[in-house]
Amino acid sequence: MTEYVNQCGRCGSSIHYTDCIDCDGSGFIDIFMCLECDGDGFIAFCLSSQEWCEANPLPGRDNTPRNTVIGVQVGPDGYGPDARPILADLPVQGEPPK
Ligand SMILES: [Zn+2]
Ligand SMILES: [Zn+2]
Repeated sequence: MTEYVNQCGRCGSSIHYTDCIDCDGSGFIDIFMCLECDGDGFIAFCLSSQEWCEANPLPGRDNTPRNTVIGVQVGPDGYGPDARPILADLPVQGEPPK
């Protein structure tokens, strides 16, 4: 069975999700879309340090911003050389909570 995992589009590290603090996870503030999370209600960020992420981009991903989430297809063999990005890059705004 094919599975998908999300990872940092720049360095390939795991992605951590946290509720958006600005909108309490609802994606909206009053009637306006929350600009912090783009209406998603959550914020994704790369688990690696900013320094490491920026210094160690995956091949060909030098221009991919940190905290970009990509889906990677993993087959029955799990992670391996066949694992490849299958979804369009989804830029996610925001920085990890302090
Ligand atoms: Zn990263
Ligand atoms: Zn928000």
